[in-house]
Amino acid sequence: MTKILAAKPVTEALVKEMQASAITVTAQLGRKPKLVVVVAGDDPASAIYIRNKQRRAEAVGIDAATEHLPASVHTSDVLAVVQRLNADDGVDGLIVQLPLPDGVDAEAVRNAVDPDKDVDGFTDVNQGRLWSTPKGQPITTLRPCTPRGIMKLLDFYNVPLAGKRAVILGRSNIVGKPMAAMLLHADATVTIAHSRTTNPQTILSDADIIVAATGQAGIVSDADVKPGAVIVDVGMNRIAGTDGKSKLVGDVDFDGVQYLASAITPVPGGVGPMTVNMLIYQTIEAAQKRAAAK
Ligand code: NDP
Repeated sequence: MTKILAAKPVTEALVKEMQASAITVTAQLGRKPKLVVVVAGDDPASAIYIRNKQRRAEAVGIDAATEHLPASVHTSDVLAVVQRLNADDGVDGLIVQLPLPDGVDAEAVRNAVDPDKDVDGFTDVNQGRLWSTPKGQPITTLRPCTPRGIMKLLDFYNVPLAGKRAVILGRSNIVGKPMAAMLLHADATVTIAHSRTTNPQTILSDADIIVAATGQAGIVSDADVKPGAVIVDVGMNRIAGTDGKSKLVGDVDFDGVQYLASAITPVPGGVGPMTVNMLIYQTIEAAQKRAAAK
């Protein structure tokens, strides 16, 4: 029987845990933990993500605020806002919503965020800390939310990782590469494939765990998957449905693969909600570290 690795029960457990932690740290700091999202321009997809983040933050008992900047903004304006929020002792978590308007130096902005408030885990400092965590010691740095959410999901469903062959499709700095670091840290044997990988099927067919993060709908099919493999689908792709309306699908042909896999994440309802959960989770962790340092 294939196990569906749904986010819902994990979210329910995490919300309870986060509510309790938020109460404790609120008492220690004398205020609620606070997340600030900096957004420039009017990207409609960003607006939906930000609303989701705000709703989840409120459900858990932390503050979430948005700093809106116009689409005409320059790099120096965004940097000034980031520096002000870095210096603000009432802010625990700070993220800059992507995409930024054309002309804004996204790399400079990414690395301007104080690593101790970098709850997206995107700064070079935190990526370096993640890769440098000594074997056998817990990862304590803030880290990219999507792979951390996947690790939580796999842990919740007791998916064994040590000694397993994991193949990650995609090598982005926010998903593929940090996913590799986390699976490696959990003692999996990790291969990263990408658009220039030749014969990815030969690699995939040997995988105990596949993490698909390419943005290519249906790129993983039943022909690629070993029976009993665990499939994690990160992809979020909008395609035309049979009714003419657009629908959200992953990178995996769910219908074809689900009977072969021992476990599989659904899209929607799998990895996506875990990413938002981890953003709030890491904001509370950042607040806990701030409280401990007082
Ligand atoms: P990027 O576009 O930054 O990276 C995509 C990666 O996929 C690249 O490394 C690319 O290779 C690789 N790739 C593309 N085509 C192929 C192929 N045919 N075979 C193997 N690898 C391929 O995307 P992200 O990492 O940001 O996101 C990936 C997907 O995950 C997207 O659908 C995105 O929407 C989704 N996503 C979902 C999240 C969630 O919460 N569920 C969060 C973040 C992302 P190369 O480097 O060679 O170009």
